[in-house]
Amino acid sequence: MFSTKYADLHLHTSFSDGTFSPERVVMEANHSGLSTIAITDHDILDGIEPALSAGEQYGVEVIPGVELSSRSDGPEIHILGYYMDWQDTSFCQQLQEFRGARRIRAMEIVDKLNQLGMDVEYDDVLKRADLIAVGRPHVANVLVEKGYVNSVSEAFYRFLGDNGPAYVPKKRLSPAEAIAIILDAGGVPVLAHPGMLQQGIVPELVSLGLMGLEAFHPSHNTQISDYYCDLAAKYGILVTGGSDCHGNAKGAMTMGNIRLPYEYVDILKEARMDVLKKLEAASN
Ligand code: AMP
Ligand code: FE
Ligand code: FE
Ligand code: ZN
Repeated sequence: MFSTKYADLHLHTSFSDGTFSPERVVMEANHSGLSTIAITDHDILDGIEPALSAGEQYGVEVIPGVELSSRSDGPEIHILGYYMDWQDTSFCQQLQEFRGARRIRAMEIVDKLNQLGMDVEYDDVLKRADLIAVGRPHVANVLVEKGYVNSVSEAFYRFLGDNGPAYVPKKRLSPAEAIAIILDAGGVPVLAHPGMLQQGIVPELVSLGLMGLEAFHPSHNTQISDYYCDLAAKYGILVTGGSDCHGNAKGAMTMGNIRLPYEYVDILKEARMDVLKKLEAASN
């Protein structure tokens, strides 16, 4: 494959747990020599419009996306969605409900931290969480600011991680539901960072409508990427990749580390047309 254009299909903004505004994400992408990016915030679409405008200004192609958290029995399964109709009322309403649940959960996390003797108030978190998709990283920042921990990763390690004493699970959404929500909104569902999961789950997700695997991710070495490329080929689904950059929230900025040849974007666009055709056929 020979490419002169490169994409990063997994980026967060300050509308979820990234530190960069959508405009800044586009600017950094341009500096990194990327022609195309996808904005994939957790449970929120508000970063898409400003990113599209900035994209026009900087000559960066912006793909609307989202990242949904789902769960069956094991660890969280993150499903990326690409090209959904981000103005679709029912889709927006669903995400709004997820964000409401996130706010309630953040209060519960704060309660647990209080029980552990830490002086944290929900208002400290809410300052950031008002109009965004609030998550554990926002709580972690408050713990850093208050000096209870030295870093966000220490906050996760000691308190907020999945086995931590202040952990509260998110509203339960099954992988089937996450995939269906994205397909119904005209989007292409893709499994995010599959290397973080047990290997056996892909066939079931494909049977539920999953259309791709994020084979290229900073948490994957070459061997893991190759494995998921082969697996995608075996199931006849597509491959994507992205840096999962959260700005500089987790230390150094990771944008530019994953450079996906543009041919993969062409394939994603074909998949989008397939989704739209199926939706149209179903409505007739
Ligand atoms: P939430 O969606 O509220 O459950 O928070 C999950 C988010 O926290 C992920 O999307 C990551 O951005 C971040 N995260 C998860 N684990 C860690 C960790 N160990 N250190 C730093 N950030 C993490
Ligand atoms: Fe995140
Ligand atoms: Fe994720
Ligand atoms: Zn992500």
